[in-house]
Amino acid sequence: MLSVFCSPSRYTQGKNATASLGKEMASLGLRGPALVLAGRSASKLLSSTWTATFNEAKINHAVHPFGGECSLAEIERVKATARQHKAQVIVGAGGGKVLDTARAVASDLDLPVVNCPTVASSDAPCSALSVIYTEEGVFQEYRFYRKNPDLVLVDTQVIAQGPPRLLVAGMGDALATWFEAKTCVEGHVKNMRGGGSTQSALALAKLCYETLLEDGAEALRAVQTQVVTPALERLVEANTLLSGLGFESSGLAAAHAVHNGLTAAPGTHDFFHGEKVAYGLLVQLVLEGQPRSVLEQVLRFSTEVGLPITLADIGLKDLPKELLQQVANRATAKGETIHNEPFEVRPDMVADAILAADAMGRAWQKQKA
Ligand SMILES: [Zn+2]
Repeated sequence: MLSVFCSPSRYTQGKNATASLGKEMASLGLRGPALVLAGRSASKLLSSTWTATFNEAKINHAVHPFGGECSLAEIERVKATARQHKAQVIVGAGGGKVLDTARAVASDLDLPVVNCPTVASSDAPCSALSVIYTEEGVFQEYRFYRKNPDLVLVDTQVIAQGPPRLLVAGMGDALATWFEAKTCVEGHVKNMRGGGSTQSALALAKLCYETLLEDGAEALRAVQTQVVTPALERLVEANTLLSGLGFESSGLAAAHAVHNGLTAAPGTHDFFHGEKVAYGLLVQLVLEGQPRSVLEQVLRFSTEVGLPITLADIGLKDLPKELLQQVANRATAKGETIHNEPFEVRPDMVADAILAADAMGRAWQKQKA
């Protein structure tokens, strides 16, 4: 098996980075016209900055408001607009679904893509894949693209003005990265690009975890205060770049598969990807029989920043047996990343681990109360 490491061509991050978007694109040879697929708050915050930076770089641009869901219909709609404007580059600016859609459109039209996440809520912006959900919000499939984004530009001033809960959700997604990466590497399984992991990817995944423990709480306070600090800069890099490179180039395991299973329970739909992944990680650690010390470190961190550690925390105060079965079946479906675990994983084991993780989380909460 060949080792494969993939990443965006360029990653740019910092306070008011949007003001340099045009210059960054021009320096990569990305010329207009650019179609900016924009979420609502991105438009409100950044429209005038886009006009200034694109004018300065002599890039024509048009803004297309995002319809709200990364669905096949939305992808077609944006493609039509891109053709109409003769777009030569697609720029996604907004939350995860906006960026997922932008990557899908660019891939279908064989155009370069720029991702400008306005929240640090997941590990997706740097990746060459999208997660497609049904209109009802149930996980449908991973869609893989030929290449990673040409540019990922993160404006930490924008992140600092975003909802704190989304930053925390990003920490949940990033929390699983190191554990899923380690499991994949130990089992010599393929990463998301079909290759073996590299030392580089594993080292980045480890740095991701260490950064969360070190800077997570401090970064959360920065966003609650709407200020940019060095701790926030490091944490945003962990949520976006380190977690993204770590998962894609090392691989996913049980935590993300359990997340996908949990989307089958309607009660979880008000919770973000990263929040469900954080609970999925607890299930993975239980499933793997990890030592108490590892579990306690994760529980302590999750409690500190407000990530879910019980089923009630992700909207499943009551989880009927049949629904639990459905979740466990979905998590262990053929092709799921849970089969990257170094042992055979059956649905009954996952159902048990889901309940055991919940009992553990409740005991932890009681003890801390
Ligand atoms: Zn994720």
